[in-house]
Amino acid sequence: MNSLARAKDKISSGGRLERDEILALYEENDLLYLAEAARSVKETKSGKKVFYTVNRHINLTNVCSANCPLCAYQCRSGDNRAFTLELDDVEKILQDAAQVREIHIVSSLHPDKDFGYYLNAVKLVKKILPHVGINAFTPVEVVNFSKLSGKSIAEVLSELIGAGVTSLAGGGAEILSDRVREIICPKKCSAAEWLEVMRTAHKLGLKTNASMMFGHVETIEERVDHLIKLRDLQDETGGFVAMMLFPFHPANTELGKTFNLQGVGSWENLKMLALSRLVLDNFAHFKAFWVMLTLPIAQLALSFGADDLDGTIGEEKIIHAAGAKSSSGVTRETLKKIIIEAGYQPIERDSFYNDI
Ligand code: SF4
Repeated sequence: MNSLARAKDKISSGGRLERDEILALYEENDLLYLAEAARSVKETKSGKKVFYTVNRHINLTNVCSANCPLCAYQCRSGDNRAFTLELDDVEKILQDAAQVREIHIVSSLHPDKDFGYYLNAVKLVKKILPHVGINAFTPVEVVNFSKLSGKSIAEVLSELIGAGVTSLAGGGAEILSDRVREIICPKKCSAAEWLEVMRTAHKLGLKTNASMMFGHVETIEERVDHLIKLRDLQDETGGFVAMMLFPFHPANTELGKTFNLQGVGSWENLKMLALSRLVLDNFAHFKAFWVMLTLPIAQLALSFGADDLDGTIGEEKIIHAAGAKSSSGVTRETLKKIIIEAGYQPIERDSFYNDI
């Protein structure tokens, strides 16, 4: 039996897909076959439920010392786009957040802000909204906090938990290959460091999300290896809550200009989502991140294995800096409407997929 036949046999019988079988499914390019298979996995795990949350993104600063070629969000101190929130700014953002169930905090690597600055922001959110989940900081930021403070990764994570962080953000994984990272984000943490932060967080009882940013200089084999690394760590710890796929947005990035990148189309987005759902058989939830995909494609993604539209967001800055054409926030009613239209039951969730 060849790799493709073995893959399809495993999909019907429930076996785990190996590297050559995943690549064969990718090569075959049968989008509707992948959709049906991924949708069946989604419905086995969460039935007709599709989740969303009322959340708010807070980006504390866009001043960054890393200068990643993939990034349109960063800028230098003194740039006319530069901003850095102080605690009273954060307080203002939270003034009308009574209905919010999750605060999502990710930022850049500010050259002059110490670890205490980020801890204080979390403590303030916790004080104002003691009942909400705080999903904050990627492994890239955690490694930076460790360097800034001289503390170990475990000590940094323990202090974040003590301040009020309830789960770690899943970003910064990009493609977990040091060859790729050297081109797209050479100053970010390595692939091994990203995985080690997640492993340590899970051991401390801190759940996290996972992600993949694709559609730039990576090979298909590197995408598949990335998924297998996430699957292996999930086997070991069980600490990932949800997976997100981010198509690379090339506008306003050095990487886009250097390699003349155009970004992937909807076919590739939906194909990678469905394929990832089939590979990551130990992940319960897949987000269709509408900010990246646009709302119409995120709605379609519900038929390709996604079971979560993420949130209302409020105001998103990072992906919009790279040319995302979606709006920067939506209402709860809009999310519910597009879920119902797709034939699913909308469930408002907290950070851990509890029905609220
Ligand atoms: S991707 Fe993150 S770390 Fe890299 S330049 Fe942008 S904000 Fe800084």
